[in-house]
Amino acid sequence: MLYTVRSGDTLFSLARHFGIPLRDLLAANPQIDDPDQIFPGQTILIPSAPKPGSPSQYVVRPGDTMARIAHRLGINLVSLLAANPPVENPNFILPGQLINIPANPLAQYVPQPVDTLFLIAHKFGVSVQDLISANPQVLTHPLPGQVLVIPRPPGPNRIVSVAAEYGYQDLRADITTLLATYPFLSQQVIGYSVLGRPIPAVKLGQGPHQVCYCASFHANEWIMTPVLMRFVEDYARAYRRLVPLHNANVRDLFQSTTIWVVPMVNPDGVELVQQGITPGHPYFEAVIAMNAGSRNFDTWKANIRGVDLNDQFPANWAAEKARGRPEPAPRDHSGPRPLSEPEAVALAELTRRQDFQLVIAFHTQGEVIFWGYRDLAPPESEEIAARMAARSGYTAVRNAGSDAGYKDWFIQEWRRPGFTVEGGRGINPLPITHFPKIYADVLPVMLCAAQP
Ligand SMILES: [Zn+2]
Repeated sequence: MLYTVRSGDTLFSLARHFGIPLRDLLAANPQIDDPDQIFPGQTILIPSAPKPGSPSQYVVRPGDTMARIAHRLGINLVSLLAANPPVENPNFILPGQLINIPANPLAQYVPQPVDTLFLIAHKFGVSVQDLISANPQVLTHPLPGQVLVIPRPPGPNRIVSVAAEYGYQDLRADITTLLATYPFLSQQVIGYSVLGRPIPAVKLGQGPHQVCYCASFHANEWIMTPVLMRFVEDYARAYRRLVPLHNANVRDLFQSTTIWVVPMVNPDGVELVQQGITPGHPYFEAVIAMNAGSRNFDTWKANIRGVDLNDQFPANWAAEKARGRPEPAPRDHSGPRPLSEPEAVALAELTRRQDFQLVIAFHTQGEVIFWGYRDLAPPESEEIAARMAARSGYTAVRNAGSDAGYKDWFIQEWRRPGFTVEGGRGINPLPITHFPKIYADVLPVMLCAAQP
């Protein structure tokens, strides 16, 4: 509940009065810098005192809605809804029904007349961006008396660090740390690369609507791997902290949608681009020969045996084969037959096993969203692409004029929306300094595509 401080109150007297440890009272009110300095008229959040063995409950009165109860108890509506998963329609609850009161609701704060978003963010040690995300109702300036949700301050660092090149070892280490930090995530190895590296998929959410985001089919387009990994982290963080992610309600999305993320389809190729190759490598001679003797692999797209993984799928594969290079090469060789490469097989099997309603293959570069394949895309593909384009500033384009890509095959086989998103702009491999802009542009695309 919210309590308005009266003359003569101290935090110590309030803690005693409400039977709450002072530490809990302070924890619920991070805006209080000095517990000796509270003033009459100030609003304080009183956390509910834990009763051993029984969660706090509230008996619904006639005319109540979840929003009204949250307001009356001075707790955040998102926290209240999260504590009551069976309540499906928050506007339709019955008198006499018992509602759980969350033990640890998000902090709330009623701005003072002098407050700005910047001052409030500073006071609570959160970023202005997080504060705005948690309070989409605030347009420019907090109004006095308006109740703000204060998100929990971020940890010192993100798990997914993008300060330098992001390789396969980073990927594996970050997945391990993310799973330990957010146990509601899970991982599945969907197959193995030519060199025997496990290809991981990370699963976000538990809803019946299933979508798949995958990246780094092409070795020199690896920057999209940390983009997907940062998305996994931010999504998990927002879910745990009960805050929206870029105005999307992650709590709802988590229940409605399962997002399968395959961050690196081509680990052997990514390693080649980032680290080069040395004589002990099993494909050393073959790779140097395919690369015309050069030790620079900046233009390498293929897997380690010179097959372009996005020319591997059984969607008019022969037509793509005829246009491409006849022999193994750094790019544009379709392989001896469709799905000859284990990396492409891994993704195809995952796609056949799951019931994906939508897939996105992330590549670089061009800031383009391709949504068609011949005339096979369903009508909604164009609408979804237009929405994604509006939110990212990218351009929606119908066809890439090629065949045998992952999204081509997905559209052909399932007649459901499949997209190729070409993130960023420049010469591949895009420098890691482009990461913040690419992530900012592509995040709303991923959130938009997850909506059932
Ligand atoms: Zn590509």
